[in-house]
Amino acid sequence: MTCVLAIDIGGTKLAAALVDEAGSVLCSATRPTPRTDVMSALAALIEEVTANGPPALAVGIGCAGPVDLATGTVSPVNMPSWRGFPLREEVQKLTGLPTVLAGDAQCFALGEHWLGAGRGSASLLGVVVSTGIGGGLVIDGAPLLGPTGNAGHVGHMSIDPYGERCECGGRGCVERYSSGPNMVRWALDNGWSPAAGQEAGSTRHAAELAAPDVTMLSTGEQPDGRALARDAAAGDPVAVAAFERGARALAGMIASVAAAAEVTTVVVGGGVSAAGEVLFEPLERALDDVAGLPFVRAVQVRQSTLGVRASLAGAAKLAYDSGGSQAR
Ligand SMILES: [Zn+2]
Repeated sequence: MTCVLAIDIGGTKLAAALVDEAGSVLCSATRPTPRTDVMSALAALIEEVTANGPPALAVGIGCAGPVDLATGTVSPVNMPSWRGFPLREEVQKLTGLPTVLAGDAQCFALGEHWLGAGRGSASLLGVVVSTGIGGGLVIDGAPLLGPTGNAGHVGHMSIDPYGERCECGGRGCVERYSSGPNMVRWALDNGWSPAAGQEAGSTRHAAELAAPDVTMLSTGEQPDGRALARDAAAGDPVAVAAFERGARALAGMIASVAAAAEVTTVVVGGGVSAAGEVLFEPLERALDDVAGLPFVRAVQVRQSTLGVRASLAGAAKLAYDSGGSQAR
């Protein structure tokens, strides 16, 4: 039996799995991302997962960005102890295996294309709508990573050149409208106050959103995206408007990407996507309004089916496809 070692590295969780060629997970484990000495935790996780499995052919890693594929280094925003960390080289040394690296959202797209909601599609855009907005492209079946691994940064496509300044330095970025914290911010600015008397854990949405790595707004005392989704589902007009606004920005981005790259399928995941119809119904409606050309109008938008497992699946596919070589 052949298998590869897939690794998914996020700000809250490290995950690893041995995955066979059909995409079946032979064994897997996760652990919380420590504040410091992440590499020791990762090494222990790899040891745990590989100890009793068949030998792996190669390693694929999906890591929170920014990543630099030219150098094999990572500087995840939520992991201050890793800045310019030579992750690819360290894992290669540790395992003695050919090792490939990509961004976690790129792996999300590749995983959904391989095993999830985008299976069988010619070209796909994967969008992770969460604390920020990430993305990845699979074009004619192959991941489009870019020379430094930054292809697919759709959260920072401008959908309004006169719009608000974004944290990235740009203006009118989709992320300013559609990420969980930005929808919450807009709703609060427009008079939303979370409905009283409802516990955050009391709804279906909340349970789905509670999974690791999909937290929409994890810090502070402010109400989070789960409360906003709950209130939108209950018909609160400002909460509904926040999702309408976020969905419309996403629709503008999706129509633009479809026009540029003729993607046929868009898979949306991340914590905000767990809001379900509260997001997808206005998204479909906005896309119907925004998109013009027939091939753009034909784009299929789907909710992620793999959820938090998508990036791990994509990391495995990356390892298989590359044969362990990242020389491009
Ligand atoms: Zn931006």
